[in-house]
Amino acid sequence: MASEFDLIDRYFKRKAPAGMLGVGDDCALFAVPAGMHVATSTDLLIEGRHFFADVDPRALGHKSLAVNVSDLAAMGAQPIGCLLGLALPQVREPWLAAFADGFHAMALAAGCPLIGGDTTGNPGGLAISVTVFGAVYPQAALRRDAARPGDDIWVSGVLGEADIAYRLLSGQMPADDALLARTRAALEWPQPRYALGQALAGLAHAAIDISDGLLQDLGHILRASGVGARLRMDDLPVSPALAGLPADRLRHAVLAGGDVYELCFTAPAAHGDAIRAAATHAGVAVSRIGVIDADEALVVLDADGAPLPDLPRGFDHFRST
Ligand code: ADP
Ligand code: MG
Repeated sequence: MASEFDLIDRYFKRKAPAGMLGVGDDCALFAVPAGMHVATSTDLLIEGRHFFADVDPRALGHKSLAVNVSDLAAMGAQPIGCLLGLALPQVREPWLAAFADGFHAMALAAGCPLIGGDTTGNPGGLAISVTVFGAVYPQAALRRDAARPGDDIWVSGVLGEADIAYRLLSGQMPADDALLARTRAALEWPQPRYALGQALAGLAHAAIDISDGLLQDLGHILRASGVGARLRMDDLPVSPALAGLPADRLRHAVLAGGDVYELCFTAPAAHGDAIRAAATHAGVAVSRIGVIDADEALVVLDADGAPLPDLPRGFDHFRST
């Protein structure tokens, strides 16, 4: 059987970019341009909790890194590199090869090469920990506490697909192969908005990536900034893949559905044209969905301008109900 070191060499060691020391030594080494700060973040993915045990390993490799790159994007940081911690219940090389393929393809696309990690056995199940490093000018970083009254609120891409795919796969919605085919890629192959995030640095005020649901994640910005928000339900970019779903199901998916990895950000109204230009350049659609208020409340208005009652909340690991 292959040793731990053979596996690392075969599946995780890649030539490090010029000027960096990658996999193979006690530490990786990299530089940050003068005046920039290191942005770093880590995410833990646990079998049965964050992914289904039988998920396509290539998609899992992609998503493990994608959700971390998404955090860099939400800070406006430029990716530098990443570390991968793997706890494996058993060594299945075809599985590892596909996982590594998906991981390295995402790394290449985002310019976030794998430069180190740790690998261990774990009979208790598969666990994946990814840490990313990026660089950002501190004064341009898209912090959660930077939203200001009068800012426009924007969101990238479309909303709702991943939530519906998750409900179909977990049996919370009756099987519907056509609907699953239209929504599954959003859940398993999320596309982190790293080009948009970097373009927004210095242009937008606050940003967050939507991992737990639009209302919950926007709520983090509002609390950190001491402000409130008014959203217009009709301005939310509902995915066309969800056409025909009951209105309450759709509303819940759009307002509270997690695993989206689109950016929600706030910016001065005067920056509207520059934001649209940045989004076009990054190849991502953006929608203006509301405004930041001084009043610390979060309301969603219907087509008649009346606040929706009983707003759904997002996903919370530690909530008991
Ligand atoms: P150490 O004993 O110093 O922690 P290891 O034997 O754990 O070193 O790892 C050897 C090298 O392989 C290190 O450079 C480490 O960063 C890298 N490495 C180990 N596991 C992984 C992994 N899953 N992905 C990327 N690099 C890894
Ligand atoms: Mg180690």
